[in-house]
Amino acid sequence: MPFFSSFAHASFIKESLVLEAIGKAIVILAIVFVVLLVLALLFCSFTLHTKKIILPNFVLFVITLLYEPLRRLLAFFRIDPSLIDRVSVEIRNALNYPDFAATSMEERVLLLPQCIRSTECPAKLNPVDGIHCMECGKCVIAELSAICKELGIRMYISPGGTFTGRILRYSRPKAKAVVGVACYPNLYEGMLNAKLMGVAAQGVPLTTPGCVNTTVDYDEIINKCKMQISK
Ligand code: SF4
Repeated sequence: MPFFSSFAHASFIKESLVLEAIGKAIVILAIVFVVLLVLALLFCSFTLHTKKIILPNFVLFVITLLYEPLRRLLAFFRIDPSLIDRVSVEIRNALNYPDFAATSMEERVLLLPQCIRSTECPAKLNPVDGIHCMECGKCVIAELSAICKELGIRMYISPGGTFTGRILRYSRPKAKAVVGVACYPNLYEGMLNAKLMGVAAQGVPLTTPGCVNTTVDYDEIINKCKMQISK
């Protein structure tokens, strides 16, 4: 066999082996992806139906890794995608409980969304720390503000977007724990950011989500704010 012909043959075999290896790697990755998706859905379903959490760190890891594909898959089957956020919030609430409960009231922050304000709210926006409630009594925030003052907890109202992270950074380093109130998708993101900042977060979902006139469970917020390690 002429030299160039045998060289071309050898390089063809080499290329075929490389392509075969890449093909196998893609198939293995696809299988791992599907297995993780199915496992995540099974764990989420188990948590939602039994209210029990198993392998919390693993489930959180998979949810964080496959967040968008999981949401799209649920939406494809016409299932509410925020179920993923809900499970994630429940798990983070459970995992963060010891660190949160160990903080003093002065180290805690209550972070509220502006959508629970009255549409006639007279409060002004401060570019540094959000909306300053005037306790006019037109919405539930007046009562929350009064009880936070009593407990020694700082309360902030975020106008949304990147402001929430800004307020949390502003309240550092004193703030070591936060009770965040929001819809499930915003809680998912907010609690992830709090984790990255080293702040122990507890999430309380809106009872009526939306952009305006949303409602909250007042008692749940206060219970979270007062949470202590049970002796
Ligand atoms: S209680 Fe505070 S947040 Fe609510 S409407 Fe009045 S000023 Fe606005």
